Amino acid sequence: MSWEKSVRRVVPYVPGEQPKQKGIIKLNTNENPYPPAPGVERRLKEIDCGTLRLYPDPDAGVLAKELAVYYGLKPSQIFVGVGSDDVISMAFLTFFNSDKPVLFPDVTYSFYDVWADLYRIPYKLCPLDADFRINPEDYRQENGGIIFPNPNAPTGVLESVDTVEEILKANPKVVVIVDEAYIDFGGESCLPLLSRYENLLVVQTFSKSRSMAGMRIGFAMGSEKLIRYLNDVKFSFNSYTMNLPAQLLGAEAVRDKDYFLKTCSKIMETREWVKGELQKLDFHFPDSKANFLFAAHKTISGKEIFTALRERGIYVRHWDKPRIENYLRITIGTREEMDKLLEALSEIVAK
Ligand SMILES: *Cc1c(COP(=O)(O)O)cnc(C)c1O
Repeated sequence: MSWEKSVRRVVPYVPGEQPKQKGIIKLNTNENPYPPAPGVERRLKEIDCGTLRLYPDPDAGVLAKELAVYYGLKPSQIFVGVGSDDVISMAFLTFFNSDKPVLFPDVTYSFYDVWADLYRIPYKLCPLDADFRINPEDYRQENGGIIFPNPNAPTGVLESVDTVEEILKANPKVVVIVDEAYIDFGGESCLPLLSRYENLLVVQTFSKSRSMAGMRIGFAMGSEKLIRYLNDVKFSFNSYTMNLPAQLLGAEAVRDKDYFLKTCSKIMETREWVKGELQKLDFHFPDSKANFLFAAHKTISGKEIFTALRERGIYVRHWDKPRIENYLRITIGTREEMDKLLEALSEIVAK
């Protein structure tokens, strides 16, 4: 018998490509085109390297406290992790511990099924409708938990707080996770529901709206009880996940509300302008409230446009998956980057 028989085998999540060469217009992983808040750079230069001798605060207290102030919660309602991928992975392990299937949309963040497989959690896909919208009725069946991004990825479609609440009302017996990775680009957060639903976990990240994907900071907000359970699992896994510089710089980013709001609105403005320009080129897309558009062309296949853009040094994201193979997910970059994208697209579709 081979030792390989008892290996935990997984089909890993495939992130968007991080090109090594310079000069690529990178619109494939929804990073923010603007730098982090100026205070972050200042604080980085002031870090006393002597403090790195010690283990960091396992609770990431400075950061949790700053987030609690910002969102009007108690620090004990905040869980911090190394990117929201770390946070969501811990949440799967902690809360999705039933024989019944966890529910999530058929078109969604492609990490969810990977975690479910990794942890051997049964799951069931709930098909989005033809406009990529969630049908709340799908979430009335028996289940072991629910997760969906809002706005959804890769579609950008935002569901209302009422829809989220409808799903919560029907599911008091399981944990419902709302992944709000893109909520800061014009969506309405379901955070106000926290006071009424002890089983709601809201996850957000510094990677998109706060321009800090490289720092790996994510967080979850929920009832104190939910956060306690999450911490018990985290401390049984790895107590010191978040390094000290990440804690300090994350806290600094949260302090600069003006800069945060300003960069988010710049991206939203660019997004609305790109929507109009793409329509002129015969692209269609569900209305996005995220920092990306999920667009398909009237006649040319997604794969073909993806390849043609790549040849021109412009990276976008494309999946060879049912329902979405003709779509490209295009991150909203700077106005200049989007100008170059649109110029390339008009050449490609004119052929
Ligand atoms: C980007 C993204 C995340 C993960 O972001 P982190 O960089 O790990 O914080 C989680 N969920 C969705 C839907 C995302 O698009």
